[in-house]
Amino acid sequence: MKRRDILAAAGVGLAATALAGCNEKTETAGAGKAAAEQQTFTWKMVTSWPKNFPGVGVGAERFAKLVNEMSAGRLTIKVYAAGELVPALEVFDAVSRGTAEMGHGAPYYWKGKVPAAQFFCALPFGPNAQEMNAWLHRGGGIELWEEVYKPFGVLPMACGATGVQTAGWFNKEINSVDDFKGLKMRTPGLGGEVLTKMGGTVVNMPAGEIFTALQTGAIDATEWIGPYNDLALGLHKASKYYYTPGWQEPNVTFELDVNLKAWETLPDDLKAIVRAAARDVNGDMLDDYNAKNMEALEQLREQGVEVRRLPDEVLARLKEVAAEVVEASAKADPVAAKVWEQQSAYLKRLYEYAELNEKDIYNIRG
Ligand code: CA
Repeated sequence: MKRRDILAAAGVGLAATALAGCNEKTETAGAGKAAAEQQTFTWKMVTSWPKNFPGVGVGAERFAKLVNEMSAGRLTIKVYAAGELVPALEVFDAVSRGTAEMGHGAPYYWKGKVPAAQFFCALPFGPNAQEMNAWLHRGGGIELWEEVYKPFGVLPMACGATGVQTAGWFNKEINSVDDFKGLKMRTPGLGGEVLTKMGGTVVNMPAGEIFTALQTGAIDATEWIGPYNDLALGLHKASKYYYTPGWQEPNVTFELDVNLKAWETLPDDLKAIVRAAARDVNGDMLDDYNAKNMEALEQLREQGVEVRRLPDEVLARLKEVAAEVVEASAKADPVAAKVWEQQSAYLKRLYEYAELNEKDIYNIRG
């Protein structure tokens, strides 16, 4: 054999060997992928909501059903109502420590542990659902949210939005800013801090405890979500006046929490399914609220509920105090400060656009 032929033969041999190795690797990876695709997962999802509660609770159930259907049963999620596995306000902790792989709740419920969480949830006189979603999904919000929750071993996703809430149910008339003095009210998050600064006494309690607290006079007032959910809790049977607008929460975004270690065990297609289902519920819940709030308000009015608007001077003072509270709350925590710096700049641009175009058409349309 000539030297050139020997080299050529050796070359082919080497190439063939390399190719065989490559095929083997592909087959191994393929087998691993196939095994991951065969693997089934049964996860627990703890929630802050009463069983099958309209809006939020139904949204959590819808998420689990969608994931089950889209994954053809490979990822089954069992939904637990508040208190079944952990109390309503301990969902984040439960997911963080791995008691459950998933959770569904409102970010501001854990502001004591993660002060920055409430900036992803609701801001008094802040963004509506569209604006919050634009910031989260196109304006860098989700990336910040993931960064904030990472030290707790939790991956957050937006999973539901209420749209504009109502100011709530009051057993005392609100005619001036002084009427908040000594008022005992249930409202969480930054809105609650505003009321505290107005002289009120604020408590947070989960949905399941609100009706009794209002009926027994343990609290003078409460807000919950809006007509759809408030009717379901029967708040009109324990209260005189229903006030609008929902200055404290022009939107609340709910979160899906995923334990990060559990998340890493999922193959890529199941991860994509979870993300798609969360996005679906995020939008679908808002549709549900928009449709049902209108119907529920009609029913409440038929039952004699008196709907009132907060006086202009009250709203103006609430707005001033809200701006101070949001700034102070951001300043009090370095992580919240970082979130608010980015978020407020982005929201300012969104509000300028809304002022120019959206607000105008609403005003004209009536
Ligand atoms: Ca609320």
